[in-house]
Amino acid sequence: MSLWEKDLNKTSLPKIERDREVNTLIIGGGITGLTALYFLHNQKNTILIDANLCGSGVTKNTTGKLTYLQNTIYTDLTNNIDYETAVEYLKSQKYAIHLAKKIIEKEHIDCNLEQVDSFVFTNKKKEVKKLKSETKFLESQTIRVDWVEKEDFSSISVSDTFVFHPIKYTNALKELLKDKIYENTKILKIKKQQGKYICYGKNFKIITKHVIVACHYPFFFYPFCLPLKSHIEKSYIIARKVDKNPKISGITVSNPALSFRFYEEFKKCYQICLASSHKTSKEQNDSKNFRIVKEKYDIKEEDIVSVWSNVDIITGDKLPFIGEIKKNFFIATGFNTWGMTNGILAGEMLSKFILKEKVPFKDFFTLKRSNFYQIKNFFGNMLGSAISFIGSKKHQKEWYHDNPTFLKMQGKSIGVYIDENNLKHMVYTTCPHMSCSLIFNEQEKTWDCPCHSSRFSIDGKCIKGPSTKDISYKD
Ligand SMILES: Cc1cc2nc3c(=O)[nH]c(=O)nc-3n(C[C@H](O)[C@H](O)[C@H](O)COP(=O)(O)OP(=O)(O)OC[C@H]3O[C@@H](n4cnc5c(N)ncnc54)[C@H](O)[C@@H]3O)c2cc1C
Repeated sequence: MSLWEKDLNKTSLPKIERDREVNTLIIGGGITGLTALYFLHNQKNTILIDANLCGSGVTKNTTGKLTYLQNTIYTDLTNNIDYETAVEYLKSQKYAIHLAKKIIEKEHIDCNLEQVDSFVFTNKKKEVKKLKSETKFLESQTIRVDWVEKEDFSSISVSDTFVFHPIKYTNALKELLKDKIYENTKILKIKKQQGKYICYGKNFKIITKHVIVACHYPFFFYPFCLPLKSHIEKSYIIARKVDKNPKISGITVSNPALSFRFYEEFKKCYQICLASSHKTSKEQNDSKNFRIVKEKYDIKEEDIVSVWSNVDIITGDKLPFIGEIKKNFFIATGFNTWGMTNGILAGEMLSKFILKEKVPFKDFFTLKRSNFYQIKNFFGNMLGSAISFIGSKKHQKEWYHDNPTFLKMQGKSIGVYIDENNLKHMVYTTCPHMSCSLIFNEQEKTWDCPCHSSRFSIDGKCIKGPSTKDISYKD
């Protein structure tokens, strides 16, 4: 369980169980969907639905930084695309931080928003050049950067950045907008008919003029084909007790990044320590990766408060996709592990599409963009998808000491996990989304898809999309 999850508002709002017709349907109540609803709350017939509880998706597992200092993204964007792209991305992130502050202040949201210095640091000589180039870029945009260079450590830092409690933010929006929100309501497919969209759930349909898909990883392949434009990255996080809050956050220059921040509540301080990020197509050994986090930060067992992992979608050009797929059909995804800023920005952008107002950064984040870097990565992602698919078949049975065990029954692959009370939990181990083999996550006791990030409980309930189906063994 993440440090934030204990604060999740677990009182469910009603489900949708009968057919409805609305003007706008927002699918997904994470930071993106809730922020979109916030900006559309004056619109008649606008509703948001979430398959589980609002905030219970990727948003509850983030580190909760609101910063524009994101590794050395501006140097990377300048090198891989061009200088103008780097400038525009910086503008978008500063705009998003301002927007987040504005919402939090206007609505008096108590979400531990705290201004902290953000650092990017390295202990590798060869990365100092990249830090210098990032500094040069930021200074060209009139940002004050503090620079430290020592024998075995270099860093840059800026001061106008923040951290917050992401779940207190989503809880507050859920409370504010509760008349328009339905929970435990999942959309399984969408069809277009006579200029409207019909969104089908298990026993109901919602007919709508506009749809916003804000469900992290879209549950459909066509249109947009996200699996071919992105890959999944997983990171491991431990929150530990510390004596004081130094009011800083940090991240390393290169991947796999070390990333940390501090959090203070009721006079207790915690450090949130992230490490060991990797493409899920490469490996899935959770126990090993949590061990790496402990080693990198020298974490003592008795100081550990929470342990969790998280995944995000990485796009070919490292920029999010925010815009219109088809007429009146909108999507926001691919936040490249910076979805606190980009999710809030996407929420405002998508609301402005519907309100027919001028949309900031519309052309910049368009789904239709294609640049060399994205095209180059298209083939990499295709290969990555194939590697994930084959790798998932090959590695599924590794790392476990006969728990779970794997069987074939009537031609179907089954996994059997025996819990500490000797109870057996049986599931089908093929992901219903695109047939990758599921990997057992020993640490969190879930079945995870290495290809597209679906997750299932040990009894097979789908707890994260894009899969819309469960994998419980029925006999
Ligand atoms: C390790 C890690 C650390 C991170 N730290 C930071 C950070 O410090 N700062 C930062 O800016 N970003 C960070 N991020 C990124 C950020 O956490 C995510 O990009 C962001 O939370 C995504 O929000 P979302 O609203 O798009 O998705 P989610 O929060 O996943 O919300 C989607 C919602 O849609 C619902 N849903 C899904 N399918 C359906 C369906 N079929 N029908 C109905 N509802 C559905 C889900 O239940 C869920 O509640 C981090 C990411 C990772 C992996």
